[in-house]
Amino acid sequence: MMDQVKHAMYDGLLNVGSQQTFKLGLDIHGVIDADPGFIWLANFLVEHHSEVHILTGTLDTPALRAELEAMSLKYTHLFSVASHHTRIGTKMWYTDPENPWMDAEAWNKSKADYCREHKIHLMVDDSEEYEKHFTTPYIRYRKGAGDGLQNHDT
Ligand SMILES: [Mg+2]
Repeated sequence: MMDQVKHAMYDGLLNVGSQQTFKLGLDIHGVIDADPGFIWLANFLVEHHSEVHILTGTLDTPALRAELEAMSLKYTHLFSVASHHTRIGTKMWYTDPENPWMDAEAWNKSKADYCREHKIHLMVDDSEEYEKHFTTPYIRYRKGAGDGLQNHDT
């Protein structure tokens, strides 16, 4: 799986050229927290003048920032679907204060909209639902599929 990501990134980098900043989008749950190779990749890109956009459904709270901090993950942008829709006034309801609900279609297309708007060169996420809305390059990460965890540094 990591090989697939690396090949897509390599193609992306070739297309981007040296005059533009490469922009990688990464999901947290089921992607970054499933394979430490993504932490290595994110840190490498940030150290080499690329952008790493973290896209998550989770509310942007001190707890979320602490979770990222605990992973020693470097990133340049953080987009929270829940915080974004709170900010723009989308109708939402809560089962508990940390758990917002809203129209599924509007939720499911949020990351795709973000990637279009910010011209993200490659997004890696584990969601089949989100994938349907993407018109920019997207890889659906499946833990254990293909080369798996142990090959992330090959
Ligand atoms: Mg996920």
